Amino acid sequence: MKIKAGLISLLAALSFLSGQCCIIDAGHGGEDGGAVAPDGTLESELNLSISLKLDALMGLFGADTVLTRSSEVIDYPAGAQTVRERKNADQVRRVELIASRENAVLISIHQNNFGDSRPSGAQVLYNKHSGSAELAARAHHFLGMIDGQKMRSSAEISEDIFLMRSAECPAILVECGFLSNGEDLSKLESDEYRTKLALALCAAYINYISCPEDTNG
Ligand SMILES: [Zn+2]
Repeated sequence: MKIKAGLISLLAALSFLSGQCCIIDAGHGGEDGGAVAPDGTLESELNLSISLKLDALMGLFGADTVLTRSSEVIDYPAGAQTVRERKNADQVRRVELIASRENAVLISIHQNNFGDSRPSGAQVLYNKHSGSAELAARAHHFLGMIDGQKMRSSAEISEDIFLMRSAECPAILVECGFLSNGEDLSKLESDEYRTKLALALCAAYINYISCPEDTNG
């Protein structure tokens, strides 16, 4: 009976997905590779891999998604000449894409990096918009269910991050791990681990949409 009850609640939850749009933002890309691991792995490539996996999983549940980028190549406007101008134009394009969707929820995927190799673990940051802290709590909960996963405390994100400051919807930025930490990096370089991360974020989104107010995970 437990399985039947679970299935009924899952199907009830999935009906909430219609009319909602999950914007999946693979951080960086194009001329901006983001952080670089000691072995040369680019943050932008890991972010894209996890984002594409998340998009595919969301599709299985019938969730409407939009990717802010789906490859490492970004088309910049002709007027943007310098790297900085191109990066800014790309960020503005992403914000406009988010604003163009009704009932959007933003999940931005990034990797952390630090001068010291000791810090490790995943962290979920959230913007000031209502619902963001609740969504972050679900992401923290489900990421924490991955075997051996170390979670750092969730926190409100700095106002310096343009995309997160400008997103007028529930928005989280997930730092999946530290490229500067050997253990985190070897996990992030595993396809299976990146699938687990995507699955946890998919579960967090569905759980949040089905019951936005419940912060007990
Ligand atoms: Zn980043």
